[in-house]
Parts: sequence; C-alpha cells; structure tokens
Amino acid sequence: MTDLKGKTAVITGSTSGIGLGFAQGLAQEGVNIVMNGFGDADEIEANRKALEGHDIKAVYDGADMTRPDQIGALIGKAKATFGTIDILVNNAGIQKVSPIEDFPDDKWDAIIAINLSSAFHTIKHTVPIMKDQGHGRIINLASVHGLVASPFKSAYVAAKHGIIGLTKTVALEVAEFSITCNAICPGYVATPLVAGQIADTAKARGMTEQQVQNDVMLKAQPTKKFITYDNLNGLIVYLCSDAGSGANGASFTVDGGWVAQ
Ligand code: NAD
Repeated sequence: MTDLKGKTAVITGSTSGIGLGFAQGLAQEGVNIVMNGFGDADEIEANRKALEGHDIKAVYDGADMTRPDQIGALIGKAKATFGTIDILVNNAGIQKVSPIEDFPDDKWDAIIAINLSSAFHTIKHTVPIMKDQGHGRIINLASVHGLVASPFKSAYVAAKHGIIGLTKTVALEVAEFSITCNAICPGYVATPLVAGQIADTAKARGMTEQQVQNDVMLKAQPTKKFITYDNLNGLIVYLCSDAGSGANGASFTVDGGWVAQ
C-alpha cells in the first residue's frame, strides 16, 4: 500500500479500457473514484460496485466531454462529494482512422474536443481546488502518437501532440503549488478503442484485420506484445504518490520500445 489511501481521483472515460484499469488500480491503493464515461448503465453500476469492494467510495457521473458546462458540473460534483480532488486523470478519448482527404469534419471536431479540449476544461476547473489544498496530481493520457505520427490519424495525432504541449504548460504554472502535471504515452493496449480501429485501418490500408494487428500495430512495438493495464497502473500509482513529486511536465512512454526506434 502506498500513501494514496483516502485520496480522491476524477478519471474521465473510466467506464472502459485504460480508464477503467486506472480506476481499479487506484481503488486498490485506497483511492476514492469519480467514474465518468458512456456505456451500458448496468455494466457501469457493476464496475462501480466492484471498485467499492476495495473499501473506497466510488461515484459515477456521465458528463459528456464535448460539453464544457457538463465538465464544470462533473468537477463541482466531485468536490462536493469528497471535499477534495487530489488526482485528475484526463483519459477520455476516441479515434478515427481515415485518409485526410476523406476525414469527416465532425470526427475532427469530436476528437479535438474529447481528446484535447476536455482536458483544458477539467484542468481549468480543478487547478483552483488543488491550489487551495496545496497539493495535486494531474495525469493526461497522451499516446506514442503525442510524440510520433502514423498515417491516417490526423486528428488523433494532432490532439495527442496538443495534450503534451498542454501538459508542459500546466506543469510550469502549477509547479510551485505542490501540484504536478504529467503525460503518459502508451503504445497499443488491447482495449475496445483499439479493436474498433482495426477494421478502419484494414480498410484504409487495404489489408486484412489480422495483417493490421500483426504487421501494423505490433510491428511498431518491438516487444511484439500489447501493453497491459498493469504496465500502466504501476506508473500512475508512482506519479500520484509522494515519491512522484519530482516528476513534472514529463511524457512517460510505456510502449515496448516503439519510440526508441
Ligand atoms: P476505450 O474506448 O476503451 O475507452 C474510452 C473511454 O472514453 C470510455 O469510457 C468512453 O465512454 C469514454 N468517452 C468517449 N467519448 C466520451 C465523451 N464524449 N464523454 C465522456 N467520455 C467519453 O479507449 P481506451 O483505449 O481505453 O483509451 C483511453 C485513452 O487512452 C484515450 O485517451 C486513448 O487515446 C488513450 N490511448 C489508448 C491506447 C490504446 O492502445 N488503447 C494507446 C495510447 C493512448
């Protein structure tokens, strides 16, 4: 057990994939959780209850990350429920794979809103709370695509490069208040988001889905293995704990060696 017991984390997009993995990993350390994201109501409730099996309190808020008003209400609800927000994890994200000349305008707008602008809004509302507390941890889910590009992912790569810039700027603004802001840059993790893009990538590149998995995704990852939730949870627990207080404005790759190439 770390020094995280009794803290509170808001995790956007925590009804699925990496965000749900983070919720489980932090709940195991005794952190109260504000869940967010879309999905089947019964499944969300089952996951919320399972988190409480770790002897913590978990609440759910379905704020839409494209809606600044709902984002403000989410942060307000977290503060009203728990009194503090010690950890903010900006994780909600979507993907679209398409050549730029066919890239739908509405998908570009949605990806920029959910993968980038939502983090601006959550941070804007949470920093005053963290400053009053005199401590805080902000973690932004970037990607290796915040550091390098792949074809057919113009909006995603632009948003992820943007969130690394946002991470650095916020880190400088909050550094003297015992608040840190860092980015995590995973390689491919076998989540529903990745499953969804296999079909689109197959279409864009004229390949079978199996070829996409082996020759596109895991080809870039020297370990030839998907990154696991445990690989990511070890890092977030470190960043959120007292031991992580010296890490600020950094981008941590967990990518099996992808960007070492
Ligand atoms: P996922 O599809 O499993 O989960 C995405 C989450 O975001 C879900 O909870 C979903 O409901 C939520 N969400 C989507 N639109 C939303 C909206 N408008 N408002 C609120 N919530 C919304 O995806 P994932 O793979 O777990 O991705 C999580 C994050 O990790 C994303 O930012 C993604 O870009 C990043 N990432 C994923 C991978 C990967 O290989 N899976 C790699 C690098 C980075």
